[in-house]
Amino acid sequence: MSDAKTDPSEPISLRELDGWSVTRLKGVGDKKAKGLAKAEIESLFDLLTFYPRRYLDRTKEAKIADMVEGEEATVLVTVKSSNSRRIRGGRVMVNVTVTDGQSDLELTFFNQAWRERQLGVGRQAMLHGKLSYFRGKRQMANPVIDLVGNKTGRIIPVYPQSEKSGIHSWDLVEFVEEALRRSLPPVGRGFVEPLPMDLLDRHDFIDRGAAMQGIHSPESMAEVSEARRRLVFEELFRMQVTLVLRKRMMEATEVGLEHTANGPLVERFRDALPFPLTGAQERSINEIVADLQRPIPMHRLLQGDVGAGKTLVAVAAMLTAVDGGHQAALMAPTEVLAEQHAAGIRQLLGDLTVPDPATLMGDRPLKIELLTNRTSTPDRKRILSEMLLGQTDLVIGTHALIQDNVQFDSLGVVVIDEQHRFGVEQRAALGEKTRGELLPDVLVMTATPIPRTAAMTVYGDLDVSVLDELPPGRTPIVTKWVQAAGSLEDDTSLDLEAMWTEIRGQVAQGRQVYVVCPLIDESEKLEVASAETTFERLAAVELDELRLGLLHGRMHSNDKDETMTRFRDGGLDVLVATTVIEVGVDVPNATVMVILDADRFGIAQLHQLRGRVGRGEHASTCWLVGEATTPDGESRLEALVESTDGFELAEVDLELRGEGSIMGERQKGRNDLKLASLRRDKDVVVAARKEAVALIDADPDLSAHPDLAAELELFLDEEDAEFLLKG
Ligand code: ADP
Ligand code: MG
Repeated sequence: MSDAKTDPSEPISLRELDGWSVTRLKGVGDKKAKGLAKAEIESLFDLLTFYPRRYLDRTKEAKIADMVEGEEATVLVTVKSSNSRRIRGGRVMVNVTVTDGQSDLELTFFNQAWRERQLGVGRQAMLHGKLSYFRGKRQMANPVIDLVGNKTGRIIPVYPQSEKSGIHSWDLVEFVEEALRRSLPPVGRGFVEPLPMDLLDRHDFIDRGAAMQGIHSPESMAEVSEARRRLVFEELFRMQVTLVLRKRMMEATEVGLEHTANGPLVERFRDALPFPLTGAQERSINEIVADLQRPIPMHRLLQGDVGAGKTLVAVAAMLTAVDGGHQAALMAPTEVLAEQHAAGIRQLLGDLTVPDPATLMGDRPLKIELLTNRTSTPDRKRILSEMLLGQTDLVIGTHALIQDNVQFDSLGVVVIDEQHRFGVEQRAALGEKTRGELLPDVLVMTATPIPRTAAMTVYGDLDVSVLDELPPGRTPIVTKWVQAAGSLEDDTSLDLEAMWTEIRGQVAQGRQVYVVCPLIDESEKLEVASAETTFERLAAVELDELRLGLLHGRMHSNDKDETMTRFRDGGLDVLVATTVIEVGVDVPNATVMVILDADRFGIAQLHQLRGRVGRGEHASTCWLVGEATTPDGESRLEALVESTDGFELAEVDLELRGEGSIMGERQKGRNDLKLASLRRDKDVVVAARKEAVALIDADPDLSAHPDLAAELELFLDEEDAEFLLKG
């Protein structure tokens, strides 16, 4: 700013803006500062990156005649007449008549004599308030008024505002205007331009100062869109540069094991499979194995829809480590998931043996262990010591794997079944659990498909393999939405009756059924209670002649196993369950999935649940039972009815829930996406990625781009900044 104490010849950096308190602005006193703080605006940087939500194009103004009684609205008017008079009690009443050229509106103010001067005849003003009628005339009492005057252009920015903060859009217009006036020439020093000149040229971007002016105080909507184009790019570019830097830095500083491809275990495993791998599985395994052979540790994401066969790919990677005499670990976000993975992998690997010259036969059985918080103390002791001695080949577990006393003899491959629940730190923590000098290779699996551009943002520091092909022989699932209350007690719906009838028919033909009980956020206890109630009700009424089983997270694992085994073996017709069946359950003869209160589940979860059927030769049906109480709920259920493609559904999910759903816990440091939207700005993500790669190829440590490096630091947490920028 003009009164800056820093070097007066240097343009203003974001860091400097971030150091200036908003209280330096003339209009911002204690009260306003508090209000601004509520909106998280404390520095001039916060202020200038607090962008308008929309713009009022004065040529497309809403008219007085369109206003609805009792509703807030903003109109642009000209004052026709203005007068005041003294009323009872010595108070002053100001009456102002305004017009939008077609209709008139009366404004009344008490004890604000100055309004008569403020709203002189011919003045233009923006009014914001509620319309009411008094003696048949339109009027507004105590509207919020902004004099439009000459200082504002044809386009008026409207900032997000909340009642509580007491800060109105017009306040922000004023503060931003002052901040810009004092920052930009001729008064101020102008802004630093962090983007390289050639990049600006290539994309025909305006500079930062012009962009700030254009987004906050535009002369036309065309100016807004040019400003937005540049600012959105800038945000996404900073993010991509960070991600690409992180990736390169890991590659440059980390030394990993060099595994050997196609060892005897992997060969035997592949030979024993009862089916050929899908093309996508072959491709992913090849990509992974190529990484494993390199001395640079792998950091790869395996994306694949439910049922795409990720487990096989992960197992191939893990066995590659074991082939070389190393160990492998798989970390899952929940105990149920870890248990299911362990069961599934044990079944898949059956009686594979590992060469062991120390034994009489020259080999020993492959050793797989499960380590969770439920593991008994003696088991845990034994497992930990065998892990340390290298006697255990595969360990499957939960967070228990990254606890302090866990250590591997030589950890070669780490698989993380993430589903958004693990952060970068935890990924790294597991990798460090080895006595070996060399870092293990890391494969992150996610069953929640993410749109490509979003993946580039969220997982931009990883390479990506995609399983975009389902194993053959799957029959498509037909999804139906029954609009009825999910709770069965007050069920009088004909549709529901028809549904149960059809389901009984399926069972009569030998098929099996899942019924998923309502999701209850408050507690697992309530959820279990609701599952029990549903179970009893169905057993007594709708499905009374069938064999029903109940499965929930609070059951003892032996009981769970027993119920699951009975269902798998055909001893049960119907499995009533909570979401514990979301993952891993694989019963090809189960062809009906009923989800009660389906509107309570998110798209990804519904898709996961539905993926439990459609695994065999018979046609499958998924019934979504629920009343959508919100437009979003309705869109979610409709999306499920219309599509079984996980990637397509992920796009819808992103559309409905916004980036927050995806960024989740992976968001580190300060949020830098204020204007950019992963939905709207997909192409920009790709362009920013490309530019980021080119820049870092040419200037790996950003030494030729100090301004950019300094800005990145502003958004990184300390540890990351240390690693990426000072390493
Ligand atoms: P995901 O973890 O991706 O949801 P899984 O690895 O659990 O999928 O595999 C789902 C089911 O498909 C399992 O029963 C698995 O044995 C089977 N499967 C995996 N790959 C193939 C294949 N190439 N051909 C036939 N079935 C397969
Ligand atoms: Mg799986």
